Amino acid sequence: MAKYRGPVCKLCRREGEKLFLKGERCFTPKCAFERRAYAPGQHGKSSQFRRRRESDYNRQLRAKQKARRIYGILERQFRRYYEVSLQRRGLTGLNLLQILESRLDNVIYRLGYADSRSQARLLVTHGHFSVNGRRTDVPSMLVVAGDEITVREGSSRSRPYFKDLPAMAETKTIPMWLERDLKNLSGKVIRLPERSEIDGNLNEQLIVEYYSR
Ligand code: SF4
Repeated sequence: MAKYRGPVCKLCRREGEKLFLKGERCFTPKCAFERRAYAPGQHGKSSQFRRRRESDYNRQLRAKQKARRIYGILERQFRRYYEVSLQRRGLTGLNLLQILESRLDNVIYRLGYADSRSQARLLVTHGHFSVNGRRTDVPSMLVVAGDEITVREGSSRSRPYFKDLPAMAETKTIPMWLERDLKNLSGKVIRLPERSEIDGNLNEQLIVEYYSR
C-alpha cells in the first residue's frame, strides 16, 4: 500500500507542532521542530510573524492533514475511512478516530512493540506479526474487539529486535482498551477506544466539516 515517502520532520514544522513521527528521536535535541519551530520553505520563518486571519477552511484542512500525518495515511485512504465512518452508527468523528486507532500498525505502536507508527508499519510488512494466529503483512488491517496480535514464532522471535523487545516495551504504558502479554510478545484488543483514550489534540469535528463541505 502506498505511503508518504518525503521528509517526515517537515510535516511537524508544517503543522506547527510536534507530531512524534520518528520515535526516540522526537524526544532528543535532534528533533527538527526543537531547532526550527517554523514552517518549512523559503518564507516559512517570516510567515510566523505575519498576522493572518485563519479561514474556517484552513482550520478544517489543517485538522485533517494533522490527523492524516499522525497516522501516516494518504488522502485517498483517509477519505475512504471517512466514508466508512459515515455509514457506521454513532458520531462520525468518533467513528473515524476509532477506525484510525484500530489499524494494525497503530495497535502495535500502542502496545509498545514499535517506537513509531512507521516502524510498526515496517514490522508488519515484513511479516513479523500474526493476528488470531494468521500471518499478516497488511498494516492497514482493521482489528476488532477480541483480536489477538502476536509476534510470530520462529525467525521473527529470534531476531535481536524482538529479543530486546520485552525490556524496551516494559517502559511504555498502554491504553486501557488493549491488553499486553510481554512474556508471549502478544496483545489483545479488549474493545474499541473511547474518545478520552484517543489523542486529545485531534479535532475530529473539523475533519468532518472538511469532508462535508
Ligand atoms: Fe517531528 Fe519527531 Fe521530527 Fe521532531 S523529530 S520534527 S517530533 S518527527
